[in-house]
Amino acid sequence: MKDSLKAKMAVVRQLKQAIRHPYAWPGGYDIFAYTEDGAILCSNCLKENYRLIVCEIYVGCSTGWKVCGFECAGNIDCGDGYEQYCDHCRAIVNE
Ligand SMILES: [Zn+2]
Repeated sequence: MKDSLKAKMAVVRQLKQAIRHPYAWPGGYDIFAYTEDGAILCSNCLKENYRLIVCEIYVGCSTGWKVCGFECAGNIDCGDGYEQYCDHCRAIVNE
């Protein structure tokens, strides 16, 4: 199924938001993105790879950077001591 342009623009808008404001309020939890293939990306990686991600969303260059949604680390409850890593740089996103 092809995403509509409107849906793509909404993802890019959220992407910009996540880069500008990498922490959720209230709580100060990290915001991270997840890709089509289930990888998790921290806000730093979103910033560094912004062009690739946008290209992937609009053009579909198949670079593996197709971000399809965003989540706040405060919403993942995997039990105490569980650490969720960024799949690109290995930074912990739920500190
Ligand atoms: Zn990262």
